[in-house]
Amino acid sequence: MTTSAQSTNVILTGDRATGPLHLGHYVGSLQQRIQLQHQYQQTILVADMQGLTDNGHNPQKVASNILNVVADYLAVGIDPNLTTICLQSSLPVLAELTMYYSNLVSISRLERNPTVKNEIQSKAFGRSIPAGFLTYPISQAADITAFKANLIPVGDDQLPMLEQTNEIVRKINHIAGKEILVECQALLSNVTRLPSTDGKNKMSKSMGNAITLGADSKQISQAVKSMYTDPNHLRVEDPGNIEGNVVFTYLDAFHPDKNYVTELKEHYQRGGLGDGTTKKVLESCLQDLITPIRQRREEYLNDKAYLVEVLKKGTEKANQETQLVLNDVKGAFGLNLF
Ligand code: ATP
Ligand code: MG
Repeated sequence: MTTSAQSTNVILTGDRATGPLHLGHYVGSLQQRIQLQHQYQQTILVADMQGLTDNGHNPQKVASNILNVVADYLAVGIDPNLTTICLQSSLPVLAELTMYYSNLVSISRLERNPTVKNEIQSKAFGRSIPAGFLTYPISQAADITAFKANLIPVGDDQLPMLEQTNEIVRKINHIAGKEILVECQALLSNVTRLPSTDGKNKMSKSMGNAITLGADSKQISQAVKSMYTDPNHLRVEDPGNIEGNVVFTYLDAFHPDKNYVTELKEHYQRGGLGDGTTKKVLESCLQDLITPIRQRREEYLNDKAYLVEVLKKGTEKANQETQLVLNDVKGAFGLNLF
C-alpha cells in the first residue's frame, strides 16, 4: 500500500457485474479490501448499472453476473459482517446524485477523460457511444461521494475517475459554501495493473483475457502454458529477459517467497533456466492460490438465497447511509423545501 491510512478513513470500492472476478482484481484491489475491512468502515458496490453502460442491449450479461461477483467477494474473504456489500441499482440516491452532478460536468471534459477515451476506442463504439457510457465517471463520483468515502483501493485505470470525482466535489462544496462532500484518494496496490497472459493489455473481464478466481486446474494450466515470455530466449542456456516477461510479472505478483523469485530471475538472466521450468513454478503457485477460492466460490453459488440475503441487507444499510448526502446536495442547490 502506498498511502498511510488514518483512523477516520471511509473506504468505497466496487466492481462492474460484467463477469466473474479475476487475478487482476485479486492483486489490484481485493487483497487490500480484505485487510482494510478490519480497520475501517468499508462498503463494496456491485456496479450493475455501470455494467449496463456498455451492455444496454445485452443486460442478461450483467444480471447473471451479480451473484457471481458476490460469491467471489465471500470466497476471497470479504466478510459481510465487516464490509457492507450492496447493489448499485437498488440505491436510488446514486442515480439522483448523478443527475445533479451531470449539470456541472461538460461533455468535452468527459471526452478528455483518458480511461473513457481508451475504452471508447477499444470497444469500437464508433459514433454510437451510449450517453450512459460517456457519463459513467459522473455516476462513479456519485457512488464515492454518497458514502463520503475518502480512500479508494483501485487499479491505476481508475485514477482519472478519482480526479474527476474530486473536481465535482470541489464544485459542489463551492456551490454549498461549505464542505459537504469529501475529496478522495486512491489506495494503489503494488500491482496496479496486472497484464493479460499475452502481455498486450490489462487483464479485464470484458476482453475475455482473464484468469478468473473460479478457473479450474486445466484452465489455469493452459493459461500459464500460453503465457508470453521472452521471444528471444530460444535455448535454455541463453540469457533471458525478465522485462515484459509475463511469467515473472505474475511471479512477482503472486509468489509468496520473494527471495526465491529473485533467485529465479538471476538464474534466468544468466541463462540455463528454461521457460518450461519457470512456468511450472508459476502454475503450482496459481493452483495453490485459486483452488481453495474456487471451492469456496462453488459452495456459495450453491446457496443463492444466502448471497441474495447478504446483498439485500447491505443495500438496506447503504440506503440509509446515503440519504444524508443527497439531502445536503439538494440543499446546496436550494432544492430541499420539504
Ligand atoms: P470490465 O472489463 O468490465 O471493465 P474489469 O476487469 O476492468 O472489467 P472492473 O470491474 O472495471 O474490472 O474493475 C474493478 C476494480 O478492479 C477496479 O478498481 C480496477 O482498477 C481493478 N482492476 C481491474 N482489472 C485490473 C487489473 N488487470 N489489474 C489491477 N487492477 C484491476
Ligand atoms: Mg474496467
